[in-house]
Amino acid sequence: MKLADKQFAVIGLGRFGMSVCQELQDSGTQVLAIDLNEERVQAAASIVTQGLIANCTSEEAVAELKLSDYDMVMVAIGSDINSSILTTLVLKEAGVKSVWVKANDKFHAKILQKIGADHIIMPERDMGIRVARKMLDRRVLEFQPLGSGIAMTEIVVGAKLMTKQLSELSFYGAEGVQILGFKRGSSVQASPSGDQRLEIGDVVIVVGPEATLVSKLKSL
Ligand code: ATP
Repeated sequence: MKLADKQFAVIGLGRFGMSVCQELQDSGTQVLAIDLNEERVQAAASIVTQGLIANCTSEEAVAELKLSDYDMVMVAIGSDINSSILTTLVLKEAGVKSVWVKANDKFHAKILQKIGADHIIMPERDMGIRVARKMLDRRVLEFQPLGSGIAMTEIVVGAKLMTKQLSELSFYGAEGVQILGFKRGSSVQASPSGDQRLEIGDVVIVVGPEATLVSKLKSL
């Protein structure tokens, strides 16, 4: 099935629900946006395929909207936990194949899991994890041009390079490139040998032609 033929519904049009609607719509899918609140539905109607006012804790409303025909329904009701839980229950009982739900905390998430939510999102926690991973993934700590086309750089070992040997790094042995030092915690080693094993968080200090370093760092 093409993405454009997929049908998504988003229930609850707070900041989170609205940005889900916007992204789905921008990706070319069909989106139905639902909320109890008329103003929020009006705001959503300008970006999505269709906006409707409905209370999704009601079995009748869910049946009338034929939500069970949708490929995926997102419950983005945050502050009203009762409504979030009840809506999820009603959707699952109506036979909606895939119900994604936003949870406020781990207790909310646990209940949602028990009643059959297919995927649970905890925006603050999930975003915190992603940001921390991005921070850990920062491979180049320092890149210092020294003049005459030579540069010095410090590379942090991430998950991808873990357990490799220094000699397996892309720039090792490249013309004009020298490994000046190797740091693990507070210990620093000058001119480390190629068979040095790498661990997450190790720092490798390298000097060499700027162009070589830039191209080799890309493939790290
Ligand atoms: P955020 O703005 O960060 O996403 P939030 O999830 O707490 O926070 P709210 O402002 O609580 O967002 O928005 C939830 C929306 O869900 C509100 O617009 C509310 O009207 C709507 N809502 C609550 N209960 C129902 C329900 N039973 N059916 C449909 N919409 C509902």
